[in-house]
Amino acid sequence: MAYDFDLFVIGAGSGGVRAARFAAGFGAKVAVAESRYLGGTCVNVGCVPKKLLVYGAHVADELEQAAGYGWTLEEGHFDWGTLIANKNREIERLNGIYRNLLVNSGVTLIQGHARMTGPNEVEVEGQRYSAEHILIATGGWPQVPDIPGKELAITSNEAFYLKDLPRRVLVVGGGYIAVEFAGIFQGLGAATTLLYRGDLFLRGFDGSVRTHLKEELEKRGLDLQFNADIQRIDKLEDGSLKATLKDGRELVADCIFYATGRRPMLDNLGLENTGVELDDKGYVRVDDQYQTTAPSILAIGDVIGRVQLTPVALAEGMGVARRLFKPEQYRPVDYQNIPTAVFSQPPIGTVGLTEEQAVEQGYEVKIFESRFRAMKLTLTDIQEKTLMKLVVDAKTDKVLGCHMVGPDAGEIIQGLGIALKAGATKQQFDETIGVHPTAAEEFVTMRTVTR
Ligand code: FAD
Ligand code: NDP
Repeated sequence: MAYDFDLFVIGAGSGGVRAARFAAGFGAKVAVAESRYLGGTCVNVGCVPKKLLVYGAHVADELEQAAGYGWTLEEGHFDWGTLIANKNREIERLNGIYRNLLVNSGVTLIQGHARMTGPNEVEVEGQRYSAEHILIATGGWPQVPDIPGKELAITSNEAFYLKDLPRRVLVVGGGYIAVEFAGIFQGLGAATTLLYRGDLFLRGFDGSVRTHLKEELEKRGLDLQFNADIQRIDKLEDGSLKATLKDGRELVADCIFYATGRRPMLDNLGLENTGVELDDKGYVRVDDQYQTTAPSILAIGDVIGRVQLTPVALAEGMGVARRLFKPEQYRPVDYQNIPTAVFSQPPIGTVGLTEEQAVEQGYEVKIFESRFRAMKLTLTDIQEKTLMKLVVDAKTDKVLGCHMVGPDAGEIIQGLGIALKAGATKQQFDETIGVHPTAAEEFVTMRTVTR
């Protein structure tokens, strides 16, 4: 049967755009439907605007350090409106780049909400298209717990478009987004409290990293409240918001920001017409080649709930394009040793196993840990400490994990990701000549076993 398209991609986000562009490059006839914004979450309400706001907040650090280097600055003034307007202009530029990337690769771009009407058919704005393969790349959406007053709270989606910087913010959650936005709000001058329901935030990260970041954030004056959960939110007469916690305490703020995870975006997608099944957490169930339970339909990215990171969605998108249209070049995505950064202030960079995971997996581990005051701070009064940590397999000497909290952690960890992928040993780390003077050289000069 002749189809309108070889591949119909639903969602022009990180994964969808990558799959569409490469599939078209391999000679396939490809369409992409996008209901909201080109580039998806990452470009519009994720990685990119977030990083721009993080840079904005980081300027406060630079200003604080300036005096030690002999600079006398006039009283600084921060204008949220300017930052947001400049950020919006950059996002619009990127939207245009994504449009060009798709159109120049020969992809048919269809604007509107896509709904599957069968295993080989998609409807957008009343128009039906047939396709041999359909790719679900619809991403995720913030999830707020169902508490009274939840409509008074905002999520990352709205935070990027706030008219003013709130004076007092409560950030709820203990994952990537909560920690990053707490740093943004606080760095830009808002009195910020982070509320996390457990004993210590960033569950799943290395224990030393979690504790170290907690200490550093507290030094910066961030109000961290663990074992704290909001029961209800009420609007007060003066427009501010009152959060009543489960333990009865009441906190008042101008903005309550929820970062309590994301759900797969499956709204009105027509799954019921296709035979696509969900897993027990509600994500689209796929096999190791991203095929759903409907043979003509594939899914990648946040909607499959594996690793919710842009580079992973990109790799999966590439995998699907190759698998379908260039099978001789197909290579499965390697989910081991994915480097990642949390752009908190200071940031975290991490790759490989945490100490806890290594022990749990039965490794006998040697731990190398170093805490030091970065050279840049020595001419200032700032007492922030950087943490670097290596988790090493005592039997094989292989480095199992590298973890860092400190300036440029994300930049530094990328290279270590290659070392871990190549299976580097601690001896090879030790034999690597450092770059001096940098913080990064500490990763090749840690000689004493801490534990
Ligand atoms: P998305 O990028 O979400 O794209 C899905 C697209 O599908 C969207 O454009 C949506 O509008 C569209 N869509 C949905 N349903 C339909 C439909 N029915 N019809 C048509 N179109 C539809 N990752 C990192 O690696 N680094 C970071 O620093 C980082 N920071 C982040 C910060 C925040 C605040 C958030 C929320 C996420 C962040 N992420 C980061 C995660 C990253 O954004 C996601 O992992 C990534 O965008 C997932 O890509 P995707 O292709 O699966 O989905
Ligand atoms: P995460 O899954 O990382 O964290 C969610 C947090 O909310 C956890 O601390 C969780 O607690 C808490 N939580 C969940 N449900 C509730 C609830 N009902 N009440 C109170 N607290 C709750 O989600 P995020 O929203 O922070 O981010 C989504 C994903 O986006 C990340 O996992 C990451 O993959 C990606 N991302 C990546 C970034 C990067 O690469 N720098 C930046 C931002 C996002 P508990 O641990 O107890 O379950």
